[in-house]
Amino acid sequence: MIPAPALAAWLSRLVQIPSVTPVQAGPKALAHGPAGEARLAERLAEWFQQFGGQVTVEEVQPGRPSVYALWSGRTDRWAALDVHTDTVGVEQMDDDPFSGAIRDGRVWGRGAVDTKASLAIALALLEEMDRRGIQPEPNLLIGATVDEEFGATGAPAFAAWIQRQGLVIHQLMVAEPTGCVPVHGHKGVARFELTVHGEAAHTSQPERGKNAVVAAARIVLAYQAEHERLQTLPPTALGRANLTVAQIQGGTGINVVPDRCRLGVDRRVLDGESPSHLIDELYALAQSATPLPVEIQRLREMDAFLQPPDAPWIRQLAAWSGHQPAVAPYGTNAWAYKDLPGETVVMGPGSIDQAHAAQEWVAIDQLEKMAGIYARWWGLAEDGAAA
Ligand SMILES: [Zn+2]
Repeated sequence: MIPAPALAAWLSRLVQIPSVTPVQAGPKALAHGPAGEARLAERLAEWFQQFGGQVTVEEVQPGRPSVYALWSGRTDRWAALDVHTDTVGVEQMDDDPFSGAIRDGRVWGRGAVDTKASLAIALALLEEMDRRGIQPEPNLLIGATVDEEFGATGAPAFAAWIQRQGLVIHQLMVAEPTGCVPVHGHKGVARFELTVHGEAAHTSQPERGKNAVVAAARIVLAYQAEHERLQTLPPTALGRANLTVAQIQGGTGINVVPDRCRLGVDRRVLDGESPSHLIDELYALAQSATPLPVEIQRLREMDAFLQPPDAPWIRQLAAWSGHQPAVAPYGTNAWAYKDLPGETVVMGPGSIDQAHAAQEWVAIDQLEKMAGIYARWWGLAEDGAAA
C-alpha cells in the first residue's frame, strides 16, 4: 500500500526533529535546539489533525506534551498504538545525529529505530487513508507518548487518559524495535540507590572513623550472593531474575576515611513479583549486611509484562509477520497497560542492537514489512494481499 520511499521519507522527516530526553541532552543535542519532545509533539499534532484525527495534547511534565489522536473505525473494535517520542542522547554519536540520511537501504540518525520508525509507518498510512478517504476497520487511537527512555511517566499518563475517557482498547501495540517479532512478555525492573553513612577520620587513625566504603562493599557482596542464588532457581517464562549493583561512588580524599558511599542497584523483575516488595526485601538485606545507617531512594518500579503467547491477536500478528511470539530481555512501556483489558503486544521494525548506539539506523525493508502488518491490523489490506 505504501511505497518504500514514502516510508523512508516520513522517517527521515521525524529524525530531523530532535526529541532527546532532557537528562541526556548534552552540548551536541542542545546545538540543535531545546531538549525534549515538544517540537516533535507540535508537528505530530498538526499532522494528525491534517489527516483527520481528533487530537488531544496532554502536558505530562512541564514542556513535555504527549499527543493522543483518534480516528473512528468501521467496527466497534478499538486498536491503539503507544509510540514513544523521546530518544536517548546523542553525545556518543559519530556523525550528524539528526541527518535522517537515506542510504544503503537504511534510514540513519537518532531515533531512526527507537522508535520513530513505527511513528513514520503510522503517519504514512494515515496520510494515505486520508488521501483516499478510507476509514480504518477498528477505531484507532495513537498515543505519541513522552518520557520512555528515562522516567517512564508518559505511558502511565496515556493509560490513565484511556481509562478517564472510558475507552476499552481490545488491541494495544507498544512500538519498539523487535525485528517485527510479536513480543508477549518481558521482565520488569526495580531500581534504587542506597547511601551508607559512616564517619570521616584521618586515615592515620582509621579506628576513629566509620568506613562507609567497607560497609557498602559488604552490601555489594550480599547482593552478588543473592544474584547467584537467583541463578540457581528454575527459569520462568521470562527467564531468571537478575540483581546488579551497577554504580558505586564514595570517598572524599585518599587520606580520609570515607563517611559516605552510594550504590545504584538494578533488579530485574519476573511475572508475579512486586517491585516495591522486592525493594523492601533488598533494603532489609542491606541493613543486615552492615551496622552503619543505610538510606534508600527508590528510583523505578515497573512490573513485568506477560500474557499468553497463544492469545488471538498475538497469534494473528505471528502469522502476518512469519515470526513466533517471543519474550524480550529489555523493558518497555507495556507494563503501564497491565490494568487495561485487552491484549498488549510489543512490536516494531528494526533491531534493538542499533538502539541507543553510536550509529543508529533502521533497514527500509523492515519499515515495509511492518507497514504491511499495520495495514492488515487496521483493515486496510485483505489478508494475504499485498499491503
Ligand atoms: Zn524505545
